[in-house]
Amino acid sequence: MSISNRPVRVRFAPSPTGYLHVGGARTAIYNYFFAKAMKGTFYLRVEDTDRKRYNEEALQDLFRDLKWLGLQWDEGPGCEGSVGPYFQSERLGIYAREIKKLLDAGDAYYCFCNEERLQEIRLAQEQSNAPVTGYDRHCRNLSREDAEARIAAGEKAVIRLKVPETGITAFDDVIRGRIEHQNELLDDLVLIKRDQYPTYHFASVVDDHLMETSHVLRGDEWISSTPKHILLYNAFGWEPPIFCHLPVILAAGGGKLSKRKGAASVGDFRDLGYLPKTLINFLALLGWSPGDDREVMGIQEMIDAFSLNRINPKAVAFDEKKLQWMNGQHIQRADNDLLANVIRKGLDELKIDTSSFNADYLLSVVGLLKPRAHFLTDLPTMAAYFFTAPTEFDEKAKKKNWGEGSRSIAQSVRNALEPLSDFNAATIEQAFQALSESSGHGLGQLVGAVRLAVSGLSGGPGLWEMFELIGKENVLNRIQIAEALMEK
Ligand code: GLU
Repeated sequence: MSISNRPVRVRFAPSPTGYLHVGGARTAIYNYFFAKAMKGTFYLRVEDTDRKRYNEEALQDLFRDLKWLGLQWDEGPGCEGSVGPYFQSERLGIYAREIKKLLDAGDAYYCFCNEERLQEIRLAQEQSNAPVTGYDRHCRNLSREDAEARIAAGEKAVIRLKVPETGITAFDDVIRGRIEHQNELLDDLVLIKRDQYPTYHFASVVDDHLMETSHVLRGDEWISSTPKHILLYNAFGWEPPIFCHLPVILAAGGGKLSKRKGAASVGDFRDLGYLPKTLINFLALLGWSPGDDREVMGIQEMIDAFSLNRINPKAVAFDEKKLQWMNGQHIQRADNDLLANVIRKGLDELKIDTSSFNADYLLSVVGLLKPRAHFLTDLPTMAAYFFTAPTEFDEKAKKKNWGEGSRSIAQSVRNALEPLSDFNAATIEQAFQALSESSGHGLGQLVGAVRLAVSGLSGGPGLWEMFELIGKENVLNRIQIAEALMEK
């Protein structure tokens, strides 16, 4: 069956060498969306054949981050009924079997040139400004028997692909169209290294074929590798998958997005208080659009709208302000129970006891705060005064709201609230309105003085609702205690 008629099978194929960069996460997201949209399979393949750069911690972080994002793979480690696990380091026997095919067909050869010799070639090429650089194919014509005898005698070799010296290698990229590469500019690339491990190129092609990958969606930085991969597919006589190279994500001020320029990993954004949904929504829109002006979207909504031909080839800038705004939008749409949990856990960490408050109380707090929160991490501090009287008062707000006359204002507010037998937002509001009229103090002045007394902060949710929730006795007590601090 030709590739274009095959069921969709896509992969995320990270190398566990460091943190999961948001660029990598976006690649995973597009693969995941595409698989879901096409009712296909999304699998995870850990490309861990570069043993010098392998990092166990990075691997565990990778699993954690993908799970946090909710990008559950369909096969492989961590998945029930797993068909994998797809760890390339566990597939060395397969690469050995496949490389033998190329050696037997004369499409690959052993190369004994050591690093020193390669260095000399590079230097000479640089000095003579040679148009074509790279390996000089010195070992290409060694006979297989001679090479194997040298290996049997203990010499170390790599195995290289015999790249055609002329002609053009081309492929059609879904996003960029036709891409052509002159073969004479390509090196005889290494397929198996001295340590017997396959190179990325070789393992990637063998696995994409054997794992029946229909589409390869990966970052633009791999575009120069693709002609090499096509040559390998040709050498094997295999049909290549469909390629789709995703646009680069740039930092706001230009250049690559990296830790040096601020947060760049999925873990950074989690720690900053972003919802996984926000990050997915935001990253999905870096290069793709649903074709209309929707921006804040749910996961299923994006999957339903997803298609490869709406991915734009142009590099896109990472706009953190927009990400922050989007997080506020997603917090507003988030499940109240989830936010209540965030608050309870956060208050535990702040050593604020919430055990005497029931679930409904917590949910009411969530209801008041969620329109105002930009980060999950803000919520516990924003919520603290609903559970305990403030012990500190915002300095700037003190200068603005407290001073001459504040104490008598506070007292008059207490006197106005005291008689309320039904202490709810409506009666509280009426009492303030009446006091404002009778005293001649503006509503803003009254509210400013007592909001600070009750919450310790200058801003927050509507005062009437907030007072109702905190309750009459607490409100009156807190105002009275704060009065002593108002006119110092
Ligand atoms: N292991 C490569 C990476 O780290 C995968 C590139 C590809 O998708 O082919 O990104």
